[in-house]
Amino acid sequence: MPNAIVTGAARGIGLATAKLFLAEGRQVAMIDRDGDALAKAAEGLDHVLPITCDVSDEAQVTAMVAQVTDAFGSVDALVNNAGVADFRPLGETDLQIWRRVMATNLDGVFLTSQAVIPHMTQGSGAIVNIASISGLRASTLRVAYGTSKAAVIHLTRQQAAELGERGIRVNCVAPGPVDTKLALAVHSKEIRAAYHDAIPLNRYGTEQEIAEVIVFLCSDKAAYVTGQTIAADGGFDATGVGLPALRQN
Ligand code: NAD
Repeated sequence: MPNAIVTGAARGIGLATAKLFLAEGRQVAMIDRDGDALAKAAEGLDHVLPITCDVSDEAQVTAMVAQVTDAFGSVDALVNNAGVADFRPLGETDLQIWRRVMATNLDGVFLTSQAVIPHMTQGSGAIVNIASISGLRASTLRVAYGTSKAAVIHLTRQQAAELGERGIRVNCVAPGPVDTKLALAVHSKEIRAAYHDAIPLNRYGTEQEIAEVIVFLCSDKAAYVTGQTIAADGGFDATGVGLPALRQN
């Protein structure tokens, strides 16, 4: 049975991705630092291996990967999805906040990939890193979050460059706004309305819509795609400022 590791799998985009992998016949290691939420999410699901692990902690990541490879053998797909958001002005972003965001969003992707890569199925392994439109276009209040996600986009290319000759593909998905707990915590009513204005499809995305792109990139259907970032964002990244006013005309 093919397998996948999904980090941040207790809820949101990670849980939707885990469920889609299951529906496609993979067994899934569901990784999250919130053990209670993870246990609830995994309840009633077959072919899952839930493991509580903080992806920013090297020792925990090493132990988690050992547990997964004991159970699965080699790893077919890794989705580095665990992430945290923090929106605040430059002047209020102190080093502790910066480090907290980088620890999960960037170190977590680096550490988990480093630990998993030696165990990836040679010739057909796939990694998908989850960035954000905030890593593609700069915006106010996202000095730490946006920078961490821009780094994930470049880390994806670095990994793709080195792992290509081993047949391991590495791609990135940059989601637009999706109604998850993460977004609810940082998107005010005003931010929500502004997003609707700035997105050609004029709405938030769903967890399922992001999961579909992730699962596609992990599949053989994307066998010749590596080093790419796909924005699943309703057109936000492709379009410029000022269009909402034009649209009203
Ligand atoms: P969410 O908050 O609903 O879920 C994130 C999960 O990751 C949670 O279960 C949390 O416990 C887990 N997690 C956080 N830090 C962790 C760590 N250090 N170790 C292990 N688990 C950890 O968030 P979501 O909206 O589903 O976001 C998933 C990914 O998508 C994140 O990387 C996020 O930055 C990205 N993203 C989300 C949106 C959006 O609007 N929701 C937009 C762009 C990008």
